[in-house]
Amino acid sequence: MSNKQFETEAVRTQIERTQFLEHSSPLYLTSSYVFEDAEDMRASFAEEKERNIYSRYSNPNTSEFVTKVCKMEGAEAGFAFASGMAAVYSTLAALLDSGDHILSAGNIFGSTHSLFTTIFPKWNISHSYFKIDDFDSVESLITSKTKLIYAESPTNPGVDVLDLEALGKIAKKHNLILVIDNCFASPYLQQPIKFGADLVIHSGTKLMDGQGRVLAGITVGNAELVDKIYRFSRITGPALSPFNAWVLSKSLETLAIRVDRHCENALKLAEFLEVHDKVNWVKYPFLKSHPMHEVAKKQMKAGGCVVAFEVKGGLVAGQKFFDAIELLSLSANLGDSRSIVTHPASTTHSKLTKEERLASGITDGMVRISVGLEHIDDIIADIKQALG
Ligand SMILES: *Cc1c(COP(=O)(O)O)cnc(C)c1O
Repeated sequence: MSNKQFETEAVRTQIERTQFLEHSSPLYLTSSYVFEDAEDMRASFAEEKERNIYSRYSNPNTSEFVTKVCKMEGAEAGFAFASGMAAVYSTLAALLDSGDHILSAGNIFGSTHSLFTTIFPKWNISHSYFKIDDFDSVESLITSKTKLIYAESPTNPGVDVLDLEALGKIAKKHNLILVIDNCFASPYLQQPIKFGADLVIHSGTKLMDGQGRVLAGITVGNAELVDKIYRFSRITGPALSPFNAWVLSKSLETLAIRVDRHCENALKLAEFLEVHDKVNWVKYPFLKSHPMHEVAKKQMKAGGCVVAFEVKGGLVAGQKFFDAIELLSLSANLGDSRSIVTHPASTTHSKLTKEERLASGITDGMVRISVGLEHIDDIIADIKQALG
């Protein structure tokens, strides 16, 4: 079975049924797998056959999850991790050597920034940032040591959009690996491989599970690169647990329908905020006012679940807004069925200096809303009363 529509693959991709002919995939809580005899044991370890040996390497539930995401992203292969950051770290650590240089978009997830600035320098892996609104500078920052280009689109938390096709062309021209963190879009809204990405990373914790239950990460893409990541990971052990993989495989069956509603609600909220007199600015990829609206429309099916805006009156007004929120959750997660409001400057991006935050558009009064699946009228009513 191949080349079915996205929704069909999401629902129907499944590991082989057992003798019980179960409809829904069983959960395989087993750390290891048995061998038939000495020859089977030898041949399995010699990788002469494709089979499960030990769940740090592979497990039927993680394989089901990986196969599903590969189909959704149009990828050749993948590996699943215990968290999104395990995916980011292991992917880059597997591919980079001492002396290599990462060229990254400046606006990235806080922990990814900390990985570049505090962990990788220990192994002499350097980075530089390009400004996402100065695309012409990207090529000038490539050095003889640059091995890969790294970016998110839309970005966390500012929902900036990068032209993936243009980035793909630059990567190809200079023979660099293009790695895209596609977490904010989910495979349903955007498939970066189509635009030239070699590898796509997701935090499964966000829209993929979509119900705030599990931590997970995944990297999919070019088979040769994924094989390197797999070999690095089967030694270092960041594998996803079978239980979380089982949860995620079920979650993905409803991804399309959930994300459609997330996007519908988010656009309505963004339109409401855009004309509110207590709001300085609103950013949402599918608002016409977004600086990269045309690019967003070209590469995304809809705008995603996150809306960023700034409350008039800076930090003090921002704090008042958060304290007045009643229905929505004050939390650091996103992509959940429950709407969540976050203050990036004091939470997810608090490890950055104020200058670093401002350079990536994170002001003190900025609010990030992950718009959930409650009725939009109730979401808007809560924000309206909190804005006062
Ligand atoms: C949350 C997030 C991550 C990290 O994922 P975890 O599952 O929390 O480790 C990476 N990138 C982006 C864009 C994220 O939003």
